[in-house]
Amino acid sequence: MKLDTISRRIAIRNEIDVEKVDTNRNPRLFLSSFIQIDSAIVNGRKLYLSRVGDTLCLHIGILKKSKLTFWYSIPIDSFIYDKAIVLTRGMKWCPYLHDNISVLNSEVTVPAGYKVYSSGTLASKSADSDNITYKYSNRINSGLPFIIAPIDYYSETTKYQNGFSIDYCFLNKDTSLQNSIIKESLSALNFCSSYIGNYKQKQLTYIEVPNFGSAQSLETFIMMSSDFIKYFGLSQSMRFWVAHETIHQWIGVGYFNSIYTTPRYGTFIEESLTEYMRYVYIEKTFGQDSIASQIKYVVNIYNTEIKGTDQDVLCSDNSPGRVIYCNAPLIFHVLRINIGDVKWQSFIRKLYSDNYGRGIGYDDFKHTLEHYANYTVIEQMEKYINSKGIPDKIVNK
Ligand SMILES: [Zn+2]
Repeated sequence: MKLDTISRRIAIRNEIDVEKVDTNRNPRLFLSSFIQIDSAIVNGRKLYLSRVGDTLCLHIGILKKSKLTFWYSIPIDSFIYDKAIVLTRGMKWCPYLHDNISVLNSEVTVPAGYKVYSSGTLASKSADSDNITYKYSNRINSGLPFIIAPIDYYSETTKYQNGFSIDYCFLNKDTSLQNSIIKESLSALNFCSSYIGNYKQKQLTYIEVPNFGSAQSLETFIMMSSDFIKYFGLSQSMRFWVAHETIHQWIGVGYFNSIYTTPRYGTFIEESLTEYMRYVYIEKTFGQDSIASQIKYVVNIYNTEIKGTDQDVLCSDNSPGRVIYCNAPLIFHVLRINIGDVKWQSFIRKLYSDNYGRGIGYDDFKHTLEHYANYTVIEQMEKYINSKGIPDKIVNK
């Protein structure tokens, strides 16, 4: 990728090595419909393409081991917010396959005076008189973020803890708010490192992203919207996201959950488990009373705001709605009560250590759980996943 500030475009050359035969007769990749491809080749020959919405259909029959190359450019004015050029995963600006864990090496050249932030590992940074080139390496399952900003755009702080460095890049000028987010993240990182297992990367970045909807955890990279940062300082109930996104560095990014292609209970084992691990974090960090009041809080939210409305869906529906974050985590609370704290922690540690770097589905999750929970306990959990409401074991407490 090369940023050209005169033509106000980023020129992109994208190379994809297909390692395994894709037996799908019409191989497809995701790429945003508003990106115009200038040229595409497969193994040196012209590649014929068609587009259906955000899907790129490759007209080459069964895809064997091959090399695909795409050339295109994107206008930066479509992606510039304030002074930062923001390419998020959700923009589908580079071709990818959902749930496909692949090595992605990227090279980004920007004029001197700009800085590049991305997920993964910064492999090198080199400069000539006019430009700086950043090389990153990622393992990804869906898309990639890049933020390109003037060098003095962010106020940056680095901390060291649990054997790795943590960079914080803020736009918000409120240093006491910055410090309380840093403190909460360090506390959650400490919990995850000791409770779930060592963080296997050397570095992690928390970065504020203007005009971004929420917060999102990607490999070594946690994007925080300016609004979420503001809310963190305004309300206790809006503080959840720092620990939640931090825990995702272990669950959902440390090991990936197959949430697109084999979605059975996928949102439950990624999102509801991460949110429940936040309750465990609260308990281990702030004491028993804090998890009890958290549970009371979500039971009340369910009963007063969700129950009987169109948001009151089964968590087996896999819709990332309120149920997945509100009452579904309580299913894990019942599971933890049933198997006991020691087995629960061993289960969470084993999920992480056995699956790090891989994509897992519900079958892998259940297979690991079978080491710690008997048939009746797992059957009860699945019954809760397929019924609405607060698990009766919690209602009756
Ligand atoms: Zn989440």
